[in-house]
Amino acid sequence: MSQVGANSRIIQSSNVDVYHDEFDVVVCGFGGAGGSAAIEAAKCGAKVLLLERASDGGGSTALSSCEMYLGGSGGTSLQRACGFEDSTENMIAYLQACLEDKGDPAKIKLYAENSADHFEWVKSLGVTYKEAVHLGRIVVPDSNESLLFTGNERANPFLDYATAVPRGHVPSHEGDFGGKIFFAALKQAVTDQGVNISCDSRVLGLIIDDDKILGVSYKKDNNIVNVKVNNGVILTTGGFVMNEEMVKKYLPLQSQFAAPYGNPWDEGDGIQIGQAVGGNLINMDEAFFGVYFYPPESLTFGIFINKHGERFVNEDSYGARIGYYCSQQPEQEIYLLIQNEDFQQSIYMDKLPIIAVAETIDDLEKEAGFQPDTLTETVKKYNTFSKSKHDEQFRKHPDWLKEFKNPPFAIIDYSFKHQSSPLYSDKPGPLMFTLGGLETLPTGEVLDKSGNVIPKLYAAGRTSAGLPRSGKGYASGMSVGDATFFGRMAGISAAKNN
Ligand SMILES: Cc1cc2nc3c(=O)[nH]c(=O)nc-3n(C[C@H](O)[C@H](O)[C@H](O)COP(=O)(O)OP(=O)(O)OC[C@H]3O[C@@H](n4cnc5c(N)ncnc54)[C@H](O)[C@@H]3O)c2cc1C
Repeated sequence: MSQVGANSRIIQSSNVDVYHDEFDVVVCGFGGAGGSAAIEAAKCGAKVLLLERASDGGGSTALSSCEMYLGGSGGTSLQRACGFEDSTENMIAYLQACLEDKGDPAKIKLYAENSADHFEWVKSLGVTYKEAVHLGRIVVPDSNESLLFTGNERANPFLDYATAVPRGHVPSHEGDFGGKIFFAALKQAVTDQGVNISCDSRVLGLIIDDDKILGVSYKKDNNIVNVKVNNGVILTTGGFVMNEEMVKKYLPLQSQFAAPYGNPWDEGDGIQIGQAVGGNLINMDEAFFGVYFYPPESLTFGIFINKHGERFVNEDSYGARIGYYCSQQPEQEIYLLIQNEDFQQSIYMDKLPIIAVAETIDDLEKEAGFQPDTLTETVKKYNTFSKSKHDEQFRKHPDWLKEFKNPPFAIIDYSFKHQSSPLYSDKPGPLMFTLGGLETLPTGEVLDKSGNVIPKLYAAGRTSAGLPRSGKGYASGMSVGDATFFGRMAGISAAKNN
């Protein structure tokens, strides 16, 4: 929990006795967004200070799989090498459908127009990708293919809007090492650009005089250090999922059952600092909220039902979309009905109880304790849809429609209270990271409540409300893709602000 109150986020210059140094650009937080911002600012000729609270940079970016959601412009070099074309219009149409009215059209456009180039930038850091596609329904491939589907591209309603193209780009390595590979390359580039890096340095707040930003104050080795900033301060301290107070305030429903997914310093420092000088906070009630049940993909032949025995989502959706709809069900009681031939143990199923097994759906309904004629009616309907290959309720893709006719049948209890991810959190529940923050322009400039730019203040990554703005429309790769791309934009803008 953050120990710094909102009031201490602003330091009046009259209270500053001494400035220890002076920089053109100060970047606060050395994760994906901060590292990318620092590189670009330094390339523009700025003298850059990069401050990091932990003993080394990395943040959630280094913890991540580093899937980046990239495409458009005819296709990235990886998409094209794997035989896929991806027009910018197609990518925009998909992102708009995902983000609905929450999306920022200007950010969507700039990102779709430039993300193929951004991929070349990432490769230029020395990150390698294998020119091979994984077409299975997977979250992170254990094998080393670098291109995959990471969202809802092949599910309805998205097929109404855009042609399905894989856009997940993951560094080539067997196993889940993308973030480490990417961050090592990013850090090398930051060092090569001559950026001054200061770790164990917690940014406390901004030094202001008459509403003008003059500098940054941070704590290092128990000393307060004050630096002057000529061009701009870039806030890239990540999101706020580790700040219980903020999570309770902005995500009251999810706070009851979600487990935080991020690094320990996702405490919302940058968001609070920006807010203290008038920055507008938006999208604070949105979060990635993942309920994965695949791989194995054969589980997709199953159906999700709530405590009333009713379906509520097309089961071929991405885990974050499933998670959103699960969170909307009464008491978040969720069950997966599966028949024997499709059942395989999922890595996400470790602690989930199988609550009933039976030879008929009738018996299964009784054994699992559903009200009479609830589950049986749902399955009757679903079997009709499967026979006609047309899911009239949720438009699950025909490839995943299959009658329940080969017993035994089983019900797995997916209720949130049983879910756990010991690798990432000791708290049970589906994993969450936040998607709200400071309102920014695509340039990274922070806006106040009236829509005016706050001079010299920039933000990117999860400190800002960036490209990804909805859990139910999220695709894996949108966050690191956004953080690194818009981090670069902020670095360039801040450096040129002189
Ligand atoms: C296990 C895991 C896997 C994931 N996989 C993916 C994926 O494959 N693709 C994807 O798109 N997203 C993924 N995500 C989400 C994604 O990693 C993050 O949302 C994204 O990396 C955030 O980037 P950022 O630059 O905003 O923040 P971060 O990378 O978290 O960087 C913020 C930095 O700021 C520092 N900091 C915080 N407060 C202060 C302060 N006061 N002063 C100085 N420094 C401070 C932190 O220590 C941190 O180093 C994953 C997340 C997790 C946890």
